[in-house]
Amino acid sequence: MAQHSNIVGGSTAKRVINCPGSVALVARMPPKPSSIYADTGTLLHNVIAEVLDGNLDPADFIGMVHENITFDQDLMNDKILPALAALNEIDPEKKMEYVVETVVGFGDVLPGVFGSADLIGRIGDTAYIMDWKFGDGVVVEVEENPQPMFYAAAAMRTPEAAWAFKDATKIELVIVQPPHVRRWETTPRRIQLFEKELIAAVKAAQQPDADLASGDWCRWCAAKPICPLMTGVVDRARMASLKDINADQLSTYLDMIDQLEGWIKDVRALAMQMLEADVAVPGYKLVPKRATRQWIDDEKALEAMQAVWSDQNDLTEVKVISPAKAEKLFKKEKLALPTELIVAVSSGNTLVSEDDPRPAALQIGKQLSAALGKLV
Ligand code: SF4
Repeated sequence: MAQHSNIVGGSTAKRVINCPGSVALVARMPPKPSSIYADTGTLLHNVIAEVLDGNLDPADFIGMVHENITFDQDLMNDKILPALAALNEIDPEKKMEYVVETVVGFGDVLPGVFGSADLIGRIGDTAYIMDWKFGDGVVVEVEENPQPMFYAAAAMRTPEAAWAFKDATKIELVIVQPPHVRRWETTPRRIQLFEKELIAAVKAAQQPDADLASGDWCRWCAAKPICPLMTGVVDRARMASLKDINADQLSTYLDMIDQLEGWIKDVRALAMQMLEADVAVPGYKLVPKRATRQWIDDEKALEAMQAVWSDQNDLTEVKVISPAKAEKLFKKEKLALPTELIVAVSSGNTLVSEDDPRPAALQIGKQLSAALGKLV
C-alpha cells in the first residue's frame, strides 16, 4: 500500500497544490485509525505486488490475511484478475520491464517528500506509471490527476526508478480501478512542469500563514474539523435567515452541502476517536449501540428448542437470498439469473447537482407501475 511523507505524497498532492495551508493543519490532527477499506486495499496491494514481483499465481495467495481481512476467491476474481488483465492489455507481448512498490522521492529538491509507486515500467520509448485502486467508490479519472503525476515526477528523480524514464519521449499514466481502467499519455515536459507546481506548493506550505482554499480536495482532508474555512461555512449556514432565502440562494447553499456533510462526518469521527482513547469531550460520552440478541451457537440452540417443541417448522425459516447474492452465486457457475423476476425499487430520491451523470429519477407513480407490471 502506498506510503507517503507527512508533507505531501501521491494521494495528497492535489490537496497540497490547491490548499498549501492544509499541511500545517493536518499535522495537528491525530493519525486516522485504519478501516476495513484501507486494510482490504493494503492486502490487495501486497498480493498484486508479490504476484508481479515473483511472476506467481494469485490463487497461491488465497487465505493470506492482513488485519483480519482474508484474501479469498471473490477478491481475486473481482480485483486482482481484472488488474492483471489490464496490465496484459497494455503489455500483450510481455515486453515491459517493471518494478513494483518502489519508494520514490525528490531528494534534495524536496527533502522529506516521497511516496510509493505501485508499478513503474518501460516499453520502447514509453515510461509507465500504474496505480492500483481497489476501492469501490467513485471512478477516478487519470488525465491531469496529480497522484500518478506525483509518482512520475518523483520516479524521474529517484536513482532506482529513473531508468524507466531515460530518453523516454512519452509517459503513460494508468489508473486501474477494477473493472475500470483509465489511461493518459503525457510527456516528460508536462511532468517537469507539474513538479514546478508541486515545489511551489510545498514552499508555500512552509510559510506561517499559508493560503487555505476549499474545493473537492477537502473530501479526504483530515483537518476538516479544525479548518477555519470549513467552520466559516458552518457559521454562514447557521446564520442564514430562512425567511430571506430565495431559490438562487438555496442553490448556493446546496453547493455548500458536500463541504458541510464532510465536515460533520469528520467532526463526529474525531470525537469518537478521542473518546475511545479516553480523552474527554465536554458534554459527550460513548454508549453502546442497541444490542440485538443472537444465538451463541445456532445448532445448539435448535437442538435445545427441539427438545421441548414438537413442530420443527416453527423453529427454522427458509428465506430466498437477495438478487445481489444470487448474482454472485450464479456468476461463479456461469448461470443466467431469472432477471424477469427482479425489479429495482428505489427507497426514495436523492438530491444531486444537475451535472451528476445519473439520469433524473422516475416519478414514483411510474416506478410503481414498472414494479407492478412485473407482478401481473
Ligand atoms: S478542509 Fe479543505 S480548505 Fe480546509 S485545510 Fe483541508 S483542504 Fe484546506
